Amino acid sequence: MKTPNWILQRAGQTPDRIAISWEDKQWTFREVAERAMDIARKMRGTGLQEGDRVALLTAGGPDTVFLIHGGLLAGFELVMLNSRLTQDELAYQIEDSGAKAVFADDALLERVPDSTAVSHLLSGEGMDFEPVKLWEEDRTLTIMYTSGTTGFPKGVRQTAGNHLSSAVASALNMGLQEGDVWLCAMPLFHISGFSILCRSLIYGMTVRLQTKFDAEASAREIAEGSVTTMSAVSAQLVRVLDILEARNERASGRFRQILAGGGPVPSPYIRRAEALGIRILQTYGMTETSSQTATLAAEDALRKTGSSGKPLFFNRIRIDGAEKPGDEGEILISGPHVTPGYVGRFSDKPAQVDGWLHTGDIGRLDEEGFLFVLDRRSDLIISGGENIYPAEIEQVLVGHPAVAEAGVAGVEDERWGQVPAAFIVGREDVTAEELETFCRERLARYKVPKHFRFVAELPRNASNKLLRRELRTKFDLQE
Ligand code: ATP
Ligand code: MG
Repeated sequence: MKTPNWILQRAGQTPDRIAISWEDKQWTFREVAERAMDIARKMRGTGLQEGDRVALLTAGGPDTVFLIHGGLLAGFELVMLNSRLTQDELAYQIEDSGAKAVFADDALLERVPDSTAVSHLLSGEGMDFEPVKLWEEDRTLTIMYTSGTTGFPKGVRQTAGNHLSSAVASALNMGLQEGDVWLCAMPLFHISGFSILCRSLIYGMTVRLQTKFDAEASAREIAEGSVTTMSAVSAQLVRVLDILEARNERASGRFRQILAGGGPVPSPYIRRAEALGIRILQTYGMTETSSQTATLAAEDALRKTGSSGKPLFFNRIRIDGAEKPGDEGEILISGPHVTPGYVGRFSDKPAQVDGWLHTGDIGRLDEEGFLFVLDRRSDLIISGGENIYPAEIEQVLVGHPAVAEAGVAGVEDERWGQVPAAFIVGREDVTAEELETFCRERLARYKVPKHFRFVAELPRNASNKLLRRELRTKFDLQE
């Protein structure tokens, strides 16, 4: 099947609607398409061809949107580089993806020695060409690298069909209303931000853009109702909640929901949000699924707290080896949003086995088919024959008022094989004994951490994800 080129189609259908709003400026879909077409001509003017793989290193904001859409109109497979990566990490992804060119925002130019500055591109000559009007469904639009939480980042192909089915399934679940405005404070190079751009084109919806996440501005817009939906990770969510609570403000009646993904959202946050009139839709997704695979619908948010919901309409989820509801095992996913495969070093790694993506995550489905994501298979702690999921212990720990952040990893133990060790970033003074008592009141005995370490920060990757494998090394070094 083919799908119309979304940028041209949207500019044709609702040219005067606002596509992007940023600070005090806004651009209609027609204006965005015109800017993108100008950039596309200049990109093709450098000698690059339809179908070439081209990397973008961008700082965010409206210019990034124009550049991305320009690259899509030019017909490239866009390798979306994360601007928080180090020079070596960038070099690896550029080499691994086989990108023919790298366009970098001027501020980031130094990070990639052989890149072309966007300012240089824009001052160049354009070349006339006809953009492809129909996209094949299996056409690769983007290549995004996984976060590298469990190992080397893997370059994931995301096709037009993947992004389209993801956007449609999202609307079927979250609903779509006239006047919807999606607040995008997520990086556009990441699927969480990029998928908002796709939804904007496919739905004809306005995106309120922040160049970088701004907690103050987000809280204000939610309270005023100038936006209706927002995507956030839990670290962002809690900052918005802190601000609203401190000001004694609530979400406007126009504000509909926060889509919270990237990792588990601690249930205390969900309750605090509910008290402010904010519905949190917990979602489970990954780079390989071009955003959401399952999302907890608003009507189930309270009843099924802690669940990531049911698979979106086109998708299926299965637990490997499960014989009955509640059995735990690896989460397997199938659907039109699942990547056809990896590029570069992992191109031989099959993304699907018999039509199912093996996620490396452990979870369970309850009797009603709600998914509970437990943790990464690689971080599972086996202690005296019992399975322990670090995420569950971390959730309990962050519920303690003196704990700002917590990371738990399995460390070796003579008696039990492995035991959980907790790394704490404190908000206030607190002792290991106090935290141990707090855990004992809330967790089975074998889950209570046997070691507590107080640290200034936790090891995280460029996506801000906790690196538990580094916690383990850290612990070994300290012993
Ligand atoms: P890598 O694959 O390189 O180790 P990564 O898996 O962290 O990195 P992403 O694709 O950015 O890279 O993240 C997807 C992962 O995030 C999921 O596989 C899952 O482990 C975690 N995740 C996403 N949503 C949730 C959720 N709702 N609850 C728990 N974990 C989640
Ligand atoms: Mg992964």
